[in-house]
Amino acid sequence: MGIFKSKKPTFSQKQFKITHDCLSLIFESAKSVYPREFAALLRVDDLQKDTIVELELLPGTISGDSHAIFQLHMRPFDLSLVGTIHSHPSPFAQASEADITLFRKYGSVHIIVAYPFQDGTWQAYDGQGNPIHIDVV
Ligand code: ZN
Repeated sequence: MGIFKSKKPTFSQKQFKITHDCLSLIFESAKSVYPREFAALLRVDDLQKDTIVELELLPGTISGDSHAIFQLHMRPFDLSLVGTIHSHPSPFAQASEADITLFRKYGSVHIIVAYPFQDGTWQAYDGQGNPIHIDVV
């Protein structure tokens, strides 16, 4: 028959989800430091490892009024940490050049939450900086 399926390497981008609780915590944290930026790492659940359930604050993370600076060398070695979240004090959740550079350096899912930090003002990105959809569960 000779039908060969080509074995191209497929990028298996996990279909990440986030819990309502975790998303609410993101909104509240972003509001509490506004107009400065809030930044943290995203932690997934122990079992499926695809649902973002918790935030991990990085020691030494500076929330400034220009841009959140991740002190990634301070991050614990921890496979349940899958990416980053930071807030934009502006109403725009688009990833900046600097954001995309960061996303490519570390993690496979990232969230940007924009003012006023509520449903509809946040966007998730993959490790290359492409916008992705993640379900709220
Ligand atoms: Zn940003």
